[in-house]
Amino acid sequence: MRAAVLLRPGAIELQDLPIPEAPPGGLVVRVRTALTDGTDFKAFRRGHPRMPMPTPFGHEFSGDVAASDSSFAVGDAVMCVHTAPCGECYWCKRGQEELCETIMPTMILGAYAEYIQVPERIVKRNCYPKPPELSYVTAAFLEPLSCVVHSLDLLNCRPDDNVLIIGDGGFGLLHAMLLKRSGATVLLAGRREPRLKIARDLGIETINARSRNIGEEIRKRTRDRGADIVIECTGREEVWEAAPDLARRGGTVSFFGGLPPDAKALFTASRLHYDEIRLISPFHFTPAAVKRARDLLVEKKIDPLPLITETVPLAEIATVFERLKNGEGIKFAVTP
Ligand SMILES: [Zn+2]
Repeated sequence: MRAAVLLRPGAIELQDLPIPEAPPGGLVVRVRTALTDGTDFKAFRRGHPRMPMPTPFGHEFSGDVAASDSSFAVGDAVMCVHTAPCGECYWCKRGQEELCETIMPTMILGAYAEYIQVPERIVKRNCYPKPPELSYVTAAFLEPLSCVVHSLDLLNCRPDDNVLIIGDGGFGLLHAMLLKRSGATVLLAGRREPRLKIARDLGIETINARSRNIGEEIRKRTRDRGADIVIECTGREEVWEAAPDLARRGGTVSFFGGLPPDAKALFTASRLHYDEIRLISPFHFTPAAVKRARDLLVEKKIDPLPLITETVPLAEIATVFERLKNGEGIKFAVTP
């Protein structure tokens, strides 16, 4: 089979690899759609602590069962994520399954390929039949949407909240779409006009941070208070550091965009303490979040297709990442 391998940052190679076999209790999926994603892009640009290279590549996908040692039958269309918690460790037992001891070491990568192996623990907890009326592209949004559902679980947003989202990538836009649905007042800040236009076409208010001052704008909108909630979706140190100053007294800052392993962020301690700024850092997702993300997609409560820039064959995978590096597009749908 053809499969993309990330040899080192900046170097993607298409290789001929053997088609995997179904592991005990697991599946092999013939990938129909794999989506590009910010994490993949980070790994491509600067490397990733959890992806020693060379590494198979890509983790948002949907497809058809090609081999099975599970209750799924060959030919079934499925949607799943690339991890599942063990259910037995300290964190799992405390309901923090996103932090499961073995969730990251057992994740599967390699969705930019014709076939991918799905182990039993994912099949049992985080794999669902894909209804025929749901496209493979929409179904492949299960993983990123699960991250955002989990992020909002930690946030406890109210419908009367004024929310500032910083970052106009796929995750910023998915946060904006879900929060708008919940009734919150959302302002999306970004620096790329084509992405902001997509948000505006979805009825989301935007501000271009290149030409306007986000702090002034948010104060104008909140009688000088600042945002009830600020969600950082850029994964940039300077934005992490600036975010608390955009929140109101008693507000919440959510750091959704992860930083490189050695990064540090500096905050004014008195502002955090005397203004009671709550800081949270949502990471990954629980099976319950995956289930709700699945429901949102299947029940068509959210339509993520406007985030797809273009559909491309697997042969163009290296070009696609170059295009992303040049600031082009949001998410590409790759069809192996
Ligand atoms: Zn666990």
